[in-house]
Formats: sequence, C-alpha cells, structure tokens
Amino acid sequence: MVVNALSVDVEEYYHGMEFEAAVPESERHLLPSRVELSVERVLGLLDHAGMQATFFIVGQVAAAHPSMVRRIAEAGHEIACHSDRHNLVSRQSPEVFRADIQRAKACLEDICGEAVLGYRAPNYSIGPQQSWAYDYLLEAGFQYDSSIYPIVHDRYGQPQAPRFPYEIRRDGDRRLIEFPIATRRWLGLNLPIGGGGYFRLLPTALIQRGIRHVNRREQQPVMFYFHPWELDPDQPRPPMPWHHRFRHYVNLEHMPAKLHDLLERTRFAPAKHVLGLVPATTVTS
Ligand SMILES: [Zn+2]
Repeated sequence: MVVNALSVDVEEYYHGMEFEAAVPESERHLLPSRVELSVERVLGLLDHAGMQATFFIVGQVAAAHPSMVRRIAEAGHEIACHSDRHNLVSRQSPEVFRADIQRAKACLEDICGEAVLGYRAPNYSIGPQQSWAYDYLLEAGFQYDSSIYPIVHDRYGQPQAPRFPYEIRRDGDRRLIEFPIATRRWLGLNLPIGGGGYFRLLPTALIQRGIRHVNRREQQPVMFYFHPWELDPDQPRPPMPWHHRFRHYVNLEHMPAKLHDLLERTRFAPAKHVLGLVPATTVTS
C-alpha cells in the first residue's frame, strides 16, 4: 500500500497572501499571535489519528515559539523549513535567499537538535526564473524541496513540471529531491488534490478519491498540505476585498471535520520517510 506525505506549513494567519495585501508589513507584527493555539489543534488531530507529519516551520515563528517546535518534534513529527521570514523567493536576490534559508535551518536545528532535510518556499514561489534556488538549497544541506504545485494558478503553479518525486539537483553524492504537491490527471489536466483552499472548498470525498486513484493506478505517493491557521476560524478579520476574504476564510469552521475524515481513510507519514531519506546526522555502526 502506498504511503503519502502529510505536511503542515507552520506560520501565523497573517502570513497568508491575503493578509499581506490587507495589513501593511510594518503593522503585521502588532496582530496577536495565534500559532501556538492552532498548532495545538493540529497536534490533537494527528494524535487522535495516530499519524505523523512533516511540519514546515517559518524560522521567525520558531525563534519566537521554541517550546512549540520542541512539542512538535517530541510528538515524533518531522521538523522542516518554511523559510525564515515568509518572503516570496521571487522577490529575493540569490544572496538574500541564501542567508534566509541558512538562518532558518540553523534556528530550527538548534531548537529540535536534528538535521532539517526539507524546505518549502512561501506560496510555492520558486518558479522557472528562480531555479538558482535549488543550488542554494543543496549547498545548505537540504535533501528535498517541496515547492512546486504542477497546476495552473494565478499566483503559483508549474503545470508542465513532473507530478511525482524526482531528482532536481545533484552534486557528487548529494542529491536534492523535489516532492511536488498532489495532483490528479483528468482530461489532460492536472487537478489540485494537494490541500489549501481547494481542500476547504471541494468535497473531502472527491480529494480522497483523487489520492486513492494516484496511489492505486499510478502507484505513486502524493504530498498533501494544510496550515494551522486553517483550523482557527476565530482569527482577526481585517477588511479585505471579497475574493481575498473568500480565499482566506472559506470553510475554516469545517476544516477539523474534513481533516478528520481524510486522516481516517488515507495513509500518511512524514515526507522524509516517504522519500526514504536518512538524516545526515544519523550514525550507523
Ligand atoms: Zn506559507
């Protein structure tokens, strides 16, 4: 039976793209932090399902909440990196990106005491013009990246990219694997079945059927993701255009039940296990 990868992008609700437009950066830090509360909900759900996941954590969030990171690691989940400041890669120079990933990786490894193998760019912002980023990820010691969503989308998406894990960079013995977000082929299109707003909007059974189809017919694992803030309907709601409001808040109140359903019927594990990666710090005798 194919085991899929489950991932959680740990950030504040105001790291969402819609909040970026609604609240100026200089004022965002004044908003109340709700990440610990929402991560507790995620840990409760996963514990109930007896399942472990990969938590891609924003470095600055980890630095502000180190005990939360330790709680995640102690529950047996994989700690991975979701950048240091949640800035889009497409808005960074290579030098700024390099410093950002090195800072975040060091911070996370300091807190959890384990090698961090995985990276996910904020909003899947490594496009074809940012492919230099893979060289820096490999240089920093990452073993896999999960920043490509092979769909058509207004903000991100590379519909021509491979749909399943593949080697994206190699330097001698060191490899960087890309683990794209889940899609299902249908009438020549890649349909998004990997999480986010689509998961909140579409019937859970439809997503489950899609994952089962990929597992059985294509014999491949998929990568699924969600955010802790998607389990927090009581988060602040500043004024924003209706379509932004819809994207950020639609069906937040149904998320716990939807995830519960998904976890009951689908096999998941942390990405590093699905990819069969061994942490660089593991010593075998
Ligand atoms: Zn994010």
